[in-house]
Amino acid sequence: MNNPCPCYLQIAIDTPLNAVFDYRWQCEDDQRPQVGQLALVPFARREVMGLIVGVAEATDVPVDKLKDALAVRSQLPPLSAKWLALAGFAADYYQRPLGEVALPGLPKNLRVLTTVALDRALKKLAKLETRHDPAPANMPVLNPQQQAAADAIGGAAGFTPSLLYGVTGSGKTEVYLQACAQVLAREPDGQILILVPEINLTPQLEGNIRARFPGVMLATLHSSLSEGERMLHWLAAHQGKARIVLGTRLAILASLPHLKLIVIDEEHDPSYKQQEGLRYSARDLAVWRAWQLQIPIVLGSATPSLETWHHAQSGRYRKLELRERAVQNAVLPQVKLIDMERDKPKDGLTSQLVAAIRQRMERGEQSLLFLNRRGYAPVICCESCGWISECTRCTSFMVLHRPEHRLRCHHCSLEMRIPRHCPTCGNVDLQPLGRGTQRVEEGLQALFPEARVLRIDADSTRKKGSAQEAFASVHRGEVDILVGTQMVAKGHDFKKLTLVGIMNPDTALFSQDYRASERLFAQLMQVAGRAGRAGMPSEVLVQTRYPQHPLYGAVVHHDYDHFASALLEEREQAALPPYLFQALLRAEARELATAIEFLTIARDCLQHPGITINDPIPMTMTRVYNVDRAQLLVESPSRPALQAFLKEWLHMLREMKSRVKWSLEVDPLDI
Ligand SMILES: [Zn+2]
Ligand SMILES: [Zn+2]
Repeated sequence: MNNPCPCYLQIAIDTPLNAVFDYRWQCEDDQRPQVGQLALVPFARREVMGLIVGVAEATDVPVDKLKDALAVRSQLPPLSAKWLALAGFAADYYQRPLGEVALPGLPKNLRVLTTVALDRALKKLAKLETRHDPAPANMPVLNPQQQAAADAIGGAAGFTPSLLYGVTGSGKTEVYLQACAQVLAREPDGQILILVPEINLTPQLEGNIRARFPGVMLATLHSSLSEGERMLHWLAAHQGKARIVLGTRLAILASLPHLKLIVIDEEHDPSYKQQEGLRYSARDLAVWRAWQLQIPIVLGSATPSLETWHHAQSGRYRKLELRERAVQNAVLPQVKLIDMERDKPKDGLTSQLVAAIRQRMERGEQSLLFLNRRGYAPVICCESCGWISECTRCTSFMVLHRPEHRLRCHHCSLEMRIPRHCPTCGNVDLQPLGRGTQRVEEGLQALFPEARVLRIDADSTRKKGSAQEAFASVHRGEVDILVGTQMVAKGHDFKKLTLVGIMNPDTALFSQDYRASERLFAQLMQVAGRAGRAGMPSEVLVQTRYPQHPLYGAVVHHDYDHFASALLEEREQAALPPYLFQALLRAEARELATAIEFLTIARDCLQHPGITINDPIPMTMTRVYNVDRAQLLVESPSRPALQAFLKEWLHMLREMKSRVKWSLEVDPLDI
């Protein structure tokens, strides 16, 4: 008998328990379930969807404990062994159960209990005609550096990681597209995965890809798709119909059976790191996936992360450089520092910045003022008794939002009306301290009554589609002065923008976070890069109290190379990443002491040679929404040693069954 029944299915379920569970299954007609298929099973008095990771003839589970699987999704081709290995690697590396990694990445409609949505999507997909004509349309001529880079990526064989290091406006996207064209032409079924950091950057790129490859199916995967769309796009990728998949970090776990090239745009961007639940780095997983499949991967940036730069310097990654802007005669903007000690700002603006804006107004050009702080003022205070608007639930301040007449905590969303008088002493004269984008907008409107001022930040773009509309009005030239947070720093290509003013970047210079200067530099280069992309001469004015700071010197000279090399040297001397590997154990409790106590026990429960366990400390922002938070940093110069330690340690922590809520993050970005 070659098909003994029943058989036993080993099924991974999305639970925090580190386990795969056995179920009994009675095969109908000779169809054996396959590894990689989804199965509906009873679990903890519910019915849930699980992933079959093994099919066995026998089980150790006693018969009376064994339950029957309810259904197997056999209409869907199984997830491949390679995909399961990817999920397995991510689970192992980030120290999470397999089910917690593998299942949440699948579309919700696949995981719900009825098969209607799946059948409908499969039918819809079957009807979609695939022309599979990889011939590109209207490919522009590349400059020699771009062409060399496109050929190097498109012609690479095997696992070939490349850093595409190109100044802002150097035409990296065009390099990706032409490399894609080469791969699509060469690989008859080949698929390409393109990752981008932010969803508000995708419409532009999506349009470009569609226009360039009219005969190729494109699927997009990101969090603002409807569940129906997500299911359809996921299936198109899973069935190999979509030749190009464009997505945000979650797309790294898409099923792509014929994946031949991975592109990661703006690889330094922190949004590739998931900050909750499974705290993975999509960029790092992408490199592993490329290695697993032995395919090329390209990481693009004007300001690569130090990790990637380190690999490029050491020769592990190939470095492809674009030193010039792609548009003819477009040169990098001139960066100037304005010493705020000499040119004292009024309403946050120095006289030099005001004069530069006025000049743009007269010429009919656009200006962008960058300030990474939304709201009107970060805090209000009483000058007579010293009261300040602290959040009652967090270690932070209530931010003044004057147009909305509210105080808001940006961490726990607590909201209240602006008090009419000081809650402590009754003084009616409460003053805003500092300034956010709303206050800058107000100041500009007063200074330039004839100007069309537009603010773009998380507050002004709450409504769906409003961000797109705001950006479109800048593109149409309906805006003279744009004020914005980091939302405006990335990706956009404003043709008439010739002035960027950076208002108050100094605070990051003195941050305790050793990554702050790397981030600040990247952010300044990004936002500076918005200017002069169409060829008009342009400037970037940085208002600072520390014009002598070496970071600003590097910004003035657009000199990422030296800046990065100096930072790397510092990191090596101080034994910090990328020369050291870290993991962070976080604990949360109503009382800080409880969290610290848990971490102290954790610190003392296991010792390992080559592993440094630091003392537990409160997090910089200790209290959020009435919960106190503390952390414990574990470090090692050896990644394998750290991994081995974490495995054993986590096992012990789980056994402790503490009531403190805790989580572990491998390769944390924020410490
Ligand atoms: Zn007072
Ligand atoms: Zn709060």
